[in-house]
Amino acid sequence: MTIFGKIIRGELPADIVHETDEVLAFRDINPAAPTHVLVIPKREIPKLSDVQPEDAALLGTWMLAVCDVARKLDLSDYRVVINCGAGACQSVFHLHAHILAGRELSWPPG
Ligand code: 5GP
Repeated sequence: MTIFGKIIRGELPADIVHETDEVLAFRDINPAAPTHVLVIPKREIPKLSDVQPEDAALLGTWMLAVCDVARKLDLSDYRVVINCGAGACQSVFHLHAHILAGRELSWPPG
């Protein structure tokens, strides 16, 4: 189990901003922007490339949760990042989206 699995099970504390039966959103412990929230499906899928066609409904629920969190936090401009694989800087192998906001966000990302 990953760190995020422990957060889902309540075994590790987290600053939770949104929760449903299927998804959980909490603030990143090492924020890369003034607002940095992680949104995860509760079902353990290691990374985006593991997703299968039968996961379509969960993926939709997950992305809608990203939008819900952004609305709840009153974010107008924000970036959503999904790192897929160690070579793309994924460090926790439980699927998650980063929501970053509150500072100038340049493009392309590093
Ligand atoms: P990744 O690098 O896998 O895309 O993102 C993992 C994120 O999880 C990182 O931004 C990291 O700061 C965050 N993180 C790692 N451990 C914990 C933790 O125990 N609690 C919280 N809230 N965030 C964590």
